[in-house]
Amino acid sequence: MSLPNYEEMLNEAYEKLDELSIKRGSDRFEVPEVDALIEGSRTVFRNFASFCEKIRRDPDFVAKFISKEFGAPTKIEGDRLIIQRRVRKEQLQNKMKLFVDYFVICHECGKPDTKIVSLEGVQYIVCEACGARRPLKK
Ligand SMILES: [Zn+2]
Repeated sequence: MSLPNYEEMLNEAYEKLDELSIKRGSDRFEVPEVDALIEGSRTVFRNFASFCEKIRRDPDFVAKFISKEFGAPTKIEGDRLIIQRRVRKEQLQNKMKLFVDYFVICHECGKPDTKIVSLEGVQYIVCEACGARRPLKK
């Protein structure tokens, strides 16, 4: 028995990735750009409200995620979110990409047309495009 060829395995992986991006099509959801700046010892996420609107997620939910990920308190102030520590814009952008990948994008069809519902104390992300449902880890 011969060992699988590493290059073949890689090629296969790339082909699968290609298929996935074809399946997702050209309407692949773009993560909105974060507009943030550091003010003293805190960070101001300046387009927080419109960002949440674009990804269709509750600002409180997003604020909690950011607070947990950066280990710092957050506060919503009008359209802005204040993070009580210094966070570079790129760091925040990367976190928001993770957020969108996990909490917004349907892992079945790749569309962002999802909502979060609670069923018997468990939160699920439900896709309005294809009907897929997956539980969210806390
Ligand atoms: Zn879907």
